Amino acid sequence: MYQTGYAIYVEDFIFLWHAALSGVEVQESGNASTHSRTSTSRAMRVQGEGGTLMLEAFAKRAARFARVAAEQAETIVGRPFRLVLTNAGYAFPNGANTRGALDELLRLPELSLGTETLLDVHTAADKPLWFFFVGTDGRRGAFLRVRDAAWERDADGELRPEEILSEETETVELTAEALRGSGATFGRFGGAFFSVVSIAYLALHGAPPELLRAAQFHDHLCPGVTSGYLIATYLKRHLPLRSPDERYVILSLPPWCKDDALQILLNTTPGKSGLYVIPLNERSKGRLRPEARTLAGVYFRVPREGSPAEGLILGFRWEEAYRLLGIPREAEAFRLENLLALDLLFAEYLDRPETFVHTLREISLPEGTRPEDLVQPGTDVLAALNLADPL
Ligand SMILES: [Zn+2]
Repeated sequence: MYQTGYAIYVEDFIFLWHAALSGVEVQESGNASTHSRTSTSRAMRVQGEGGTLMLEAFAKRAARFARVAAEQAETIVGRPFRLVLTNAGYAFPNGANTRGALDELLRLPELSLGTETLLDVHTAADKPLWFFFVGTDGRRGAFLRVRDAAWERDADGELRPEEILSEETETVELTAEALRGSGATFGRFGGAFFSVVSIAYLALHGAPPELLRAAQFHDHLCPGVTSGYLIATYLKRHLPLRSPDERYVILSLPPWCKDDALQILLNTTPGKSGLYVIPLNERSKGRLRPEARTLAGVYFRVPREGSPAEGLILGFRWEEAYRLLGIPREAEAFRLENLLALDLLFAEYLDRPETFVHTLREISLPEGTRPEDLVQPGTDVLAALNLADPL
């Protein structure tokens, strides 16, 4: 039964996929799917809870909402915009495709992908569509959210702006002084405050595009992401890939925000067996040998076949970062201004990762052993790597 169901599922999926690409109309009713190749329209119709909705209609609606938001933002922060952030393309409120908002924003002459003036930020699919517009002076930002209900109600494009955009527009002053002490405001912007402010602030201060990509994926730009950028730079320098046949495989040990940066920068995704995530609780951390207290993971260079994998066990000196910053590590490290200050500090060291990243030890795996063998269930990975005494 399972097999049959699965086969049907795959077949349906492939059909839907082709239909979406070729403009075939698809109607789904109840459990059974019926396919009718009736139209050359590029629309794909899916009948479901939200009624019959079309990609074209979504694209048009998303574009209109972006236009309304931009017009409103212009009256608050002024144009030309210096920077716009949005979760368009990732948000699917009530199943609505929000990508059309990106098309519309790219029509504004001051915005483009190449100049990093339009950044799309990863969010969960069920989040409302939002925009963050930074005005001409690069200091004031306005956050606007689209009401989820507007996607269904604006079928004829007649909703007024206040029916499309939720509540009052929230604004923020993007200066270090203004952001100081704003740690208590993490909940603003529907919870997206740190996400928006950190990426915008660092983008306006010249963060490199690869770091921005990592932050867009991670959904905020915290020192943890920047530490991942520093580790990737260190790795390319001290354990470079020598041919297209080699790849990195990482034992993330312990994991933190760095791992999202590493996925973007090195394409070491868990799904492609490039990243194995092993959490360390306080007890496990307590087992680490004193010299391994800075542990930031094991980074292997793996050949496709033949010679065994070699790697570096790396550490990250957070203490050094806090020392350079002049604040004690324990003291409210997660206040917004401290996170931003730390990011700005790291920005000075992007080409000097050795200030923080260091090699604890080199490692090479015995013939016939693969990195994942070290992290099989029941394996004491810390002892296997000689980072702690066996349990
Ligand atoms: Zn983070």
